[in-house]
Amino acid sequence: MERWRASKSADLYGVNQWSGGYFQVAENGDATVLPRPGATDRAVSIAEVAEGIRARGFDMPVLLRIDNILDAQIESLNETCRTAMEELGYKGRFMGAYPIKVNQQQQVVEKIAEFGARYHHGLEAGSKAELIAAMGSMRDRNAVLICNGYKDEEFIDLGLYATKLGFTCILVVELPDELPLILERSKQLDAKPVLGIRIKLSTQAGGHWADSGGERSFFGLNTTQIIDAVDLLKGAGMLDCLKMVHYHLGSQISNIREIRTAVNEACRVYAGLAREGAAVEYLDLGGGLAVDYDGTQSNFLSSRNYTLKEYCTDIFEAVMTSLDEEGIPHPTIITESGRALVAYSSVLLFNVLDVTRFQAATLPATLPEGSPSSLEYMFQALKGLNIRNMQEVLNDVIFYRDETRRLFDNGKVTLRQRSLCEQIFWTTLNEIQNLSLELKHPGPESGELERVLADIYYCNFSVFQSLPDAWAIDQLFPVMPIHRLNEEPKRRGILADITCDCDGQIDQFIDKRGTRRVLPLHEVKPYEEYLIGVFLVGAYQETLGDLHNLLGDTNVVSIRILDKGAYEFVSEQEGDTVSDVLAYVQYDPKRLFNSFRQSAERAVREGRIAPQERRKIVAAYEAGLRGYTYFER
Ligand SMILES: *Cc1c(COP(=O)(O)O)cnc(C)c1O
Repeated sequence: MERWRASKSADLYGVNQWSGGYFQVAENGDATVLPRPGATDRAVSIAEVAEGIRARGFDMPVLLRIDNILDAQIESLNETCRTAMEELGYKGRFMGAYPIKVNQQQQVVEKIAEFGARYHHGLEAGSKAELIAAMGSMRDRNAVLICNGYKDEEFIDLGLYATKLGFTCILVVELPDELPLILERSKQLDAKPVLGIRIKLSTQAGGHWADSGGERSFFGLNTTQIIDAVDLLKGAGMLDCLKMVHYHLGSQISNIREIRTAVNEACRVYAGLAREGAAVEYLDLGGGLAVDYDGTQSNFLSSRNYTLKEYCTDIFEAVMTSLDEEGIPHPTIITESGRALVAYSSVLLFNVLDVTRFQAATLPATLPEGSPSSLEYMFQALKGLNIRNMQEVLNDVIFYRDETRRLFDNGKVTLRQRSLCEQIFWTTLNEIQNLSLELKHPGPESGELERVLADIYYCNFSVFQSLPDAWAIDQLFPVMPIHRLNEEPKRRGILADITCDCDGQIDQFIDKRGTRRVLPLHEVKPYEEYLIGVFLVGAYQETLGDLHNLLGDTNVVSIRILDKGAYEFVSEQEGDTVSDVLAYVQYDPKRLFNSFRQSAERAVREGRIAPQERRKIVAAYEAGLRGYTYFER
């Protein structure tokens, strides 16, 4: 037998396919993170970082942010666009605007503003609160500040004030009714607005968010409404304020064809507005740049069938093709890429608390007397099982198991007989599974068998809080242990979280050929921590999460990788305490504490506990309130 190596694990988990060049498996079996794609000489062991986090007193689960990756992704988007423009002879510019909703955490937004400064990378706000966050985080007046979303007077006023302060703040008209209000507020505040209009495209994109684009989208103006807007602006002598055409097709667009078609349609609208006399100079293509979560480079929902280079080349080429034809100068292209910018920079780390696995029962050599014939048939089927009759035996045991259960319901089979029936059933499934492993091609229903016979790894995290998209829309994320990767992972498991909710689990994993129902994992050793990482979780996962079972925000630790694989902890944020999450759902922790103290006092009065014991119990309750919501050691 050939020895298992780290490279085999890299292949098994498809690391080189989904890592974007940021993650690798080291010879010693640790998963490593690199500050930029391919910078192997500066690789840092994630297991070592996790140890450092523990040493500093933070419990798992932890969300680990790697600042360098955010920096590198901003650079990569901007530089790839620059190169593509140069190669194609594009005469306009490119400007990014990060949509705050994708990850609103102050640390993330501030870092994007900092790292993006050299490219004048701006921000996009979709609500008043996001605009307020953006106005407080932005310094760069050459970067754009895009205001999307439905706007009330206050929202509009804030945007106009930003313009007065010298920011390039663009108010995007999302619905026809907004325009008169914007014009009125501009007059009131004596501010000249910079306007964009969101257009409805007839291009439909596939994917989970298909409805955000297309004629049926909630936001955006159709062609008649666009013409009305132009006439209104003309009448007010403000057509020169209309500077931008905007659309957003939806997120995670896996198919490059849809991206191209949309750009083309938007260019025709842009050209039409230029002809009408609008002073258009920006074309904002929204988000949609996808992340290849499963590494298949396909048009699967969790993938994308294009590279960043192809994306950039295709959009500039499509703009040039349509606008050159119409003799219109090349606009400044804006994209609001969020997912692709931040997904790679966060990894969720958690420990395994317990494992349950299928235990083969010791079956008797012969069945006890008086066993029902359905049991006899199952027993015979199991005894006669071989590599050629697996499907037949499988069908038989399912049939007779159901038969036995029916007899049990009718009182014809005893509890003990029913238990034996289940044992024969599971033993047969397990043996079929073992025989299947000897086959070159997977045996009958091997995927399903693998799933039902899988070990359950109970893990210290909540899907609802930390991976809401895995729960709500079956989004796939790459998952693998972050150490021991130089050992063969011989077990097959699914991950259950600590909510004990039957939806609180991950049982869909990435695979080279689609999806897989089980994850290869190692045997957990007693007294040794087993740590698992969920990768590419920087986009959308942090604030969509909810407080299911009152499990709160996890601890968050950010690191910055320095030269030669050294790194520093840039910041640590403690996750929610029990008290915090109780307050979110309107409890008053002080009142709870007082009421509990009274219960303890009553117990003293009734002679159930001694006063000293009361003190201990009350202290434990208080420590519980102050503690982490997850499993602590
Ligand atoms: C959500 C959203 C984005 C971000 O899209 P990604 O696919 O994450 O890049 C951009 N623009 C608007 C208007 C959005 O609503």
